[in-house]
Amino acid sequence: MPEMYIAGRWTAGSASEHINIIDPATEEVLASVPRGTSADAQAAVAAAKDAFDDWRRTSANERADMLHEAANLMREHFDELATLLTREEGKPYSENEEEMEWTLNTFHYYAELGRHEIGSVIPPGDPAQFNFVIREPYGVAACIIPWNYPLLLLAWKVAPALAAGNTVVIKPSELTPLATLRLAELAFAHLPPGVVNVVTGFGPEVGEPLVRHPDVPVIAFTGSVATGQRIASIAAPMMKKLHLELGGKDPMVIAPDMEIETAVSALAYAALLNAGQVCTSTERVYVHQSQYAAFSEELASFVSSLRLGNGLDENVDIGPMIEDRFRDKVAGHIAEAVSRGARVLVGGGNATGFDRGYFFQPTVLIDANHSMKIMREETFGPAIPLMPYRDFDEAIRLCNDSALGLGATLMSHDARLVKRFFENVKAGTIWINDPLTDNYAGPFGGMKMTGGGRELGQAGFDEFTEIKHVHWDIEGGIKDYWFPY
Ligand code: NAD
Repeated sequence: MPEMYIAGRWTAGSASEHINIIDPATEEVLASVPRGTSADAQAAVAAAKDAFDDWRRTSANERADMLHEAANLMREHFDELATLLTREEGKPYSENEEEMEWTLNTFHYYAELGRHEIGSVIPPGDPAQFNFVIREPYGVAACIIPWNYPLLLLAWKVAPALAAGNTVVIKPSELTPLATLRLAELAFAHLPPGVVNVVTGFGPEVGEPLVRHPDVPVIAFTGSVATGQRIASIAAPMMKKLHLELGGKDPMVIAPDMEIETAVSALAYAALLNAGQVCTSTERVYVHQSQYAAFSEELASFVSSLRLGNGLDENVDIGPMIEDRFRDKVAGHIAEAVSRGARVLVGGGNATGFDRGYFFQPTVLIDANHSMKIMREETFGPAIPLMPYRDFDEAIRLCNDSALGLGATLMSHDARLVKRFFENVKAGTIWINDPLTDNYAGPFGGMKMTGGGRELGQAGFDEFTEIKHVHWDIEGGIKDYWFPY
């Protein structure tokens, strides 16, 4: 049975119980992990705190070498980790190859960024003085990760945190801790003990003690809005640095100039990747009324051709959902939309033909509107609701009619529409004609209730450093502006 990783050692910690990890495609128990407690969180923070001083004083060049080495080890064990991700999370193997590429290259990227610069020199008020700004690590960073991209979202936090000189305690989702534990074993063993620690268990039991711990000054969290609110309410009185990446309800607008075939293909990818369980999944679609009927028909036909099944089978396009309760939420959103006048063109319920596994039919709905939950709340599943719009101003207004602001996509070749879109839509990432494509150097994060954290790029590094201004009077003589006046 996998154990927790604390202070460079594998340990069952103080857990007296275990959590079974289920393969969502087969419902088989893959393994079980310790159900960590507050005492385990304390032990991991103590180890990370002990390791911090040496790690922050390790030269940036040495840290870079160790992070490159971690990435190289991930490359060496690429297939094993991608397979484990597929088994515990469900998405097709090819999508996990992509996740592995992102994970290891994020370590390469931040290895280099970490030795690039740690501040700036600014003009002094007097030529005999010297003023500069240093970016310092915070100390121990708690990295709390969801289940949908267990290693990629870990890398987006852990790589910049370590490169900046912090030490970390990782808390993977209770649904998907296996790839994380294996990653620690395969790719982090060469780091000094305590620099990386992994505790397993439920959020309120082992995550919350990390958030509350006085020796954890920064909390990097990706997950739901509700958990983010809970974490923020605990951390706020302690003035902790919060880095929150919360839910999305991303829109896609299909402009009338766009070829239907391209838009259908882009939309199916953006909405159904990882069975729609991506924070940046397209979750609501606005199609110009002139194209609405033809577009709906082509989309329905394309979506019906997609193949559902176990993600380890290479002939599969869409895997299972992670758990039954997430399937139920999608079904609930569809039922509520139908009760308010939407129509299901394809799909609509649990997939038939599977004895086991949390498969849900990819679904296309038409005649959706903003009175429906499926257009307002995060659905997080393979459902695509379509709504017609009359003119581009209305499309932009509908995009912005949301409490969330993670990403937004426009499909168009018309530069005037593109400019109106990126200038007026409130979202952290705007995609034009290529939804969901990230960039190592491009800051990723949300606006509004999605939380203001940014991952990737320089911004993703800066989240793990705090700023210190040094004002140095080199001569050090008595000043005429001191007492007495
Ligand atoms: P979740 O909020 O249920 O859990 C996320 C993590 O927080 C898990 O590790 C969980 O154990 C932990 N947790 C739960 N309660 C906690 C508490 N009280 N204190 C500390 N930790 C706690 O989210 P989930 O279901 O794992 O993930 C899906 C959600 O994540 C969706 O809302 C999705 O949009 C969001 N997400 C956002 C992004 C982004 O970049 N914005 C990326 C991926 C997923």
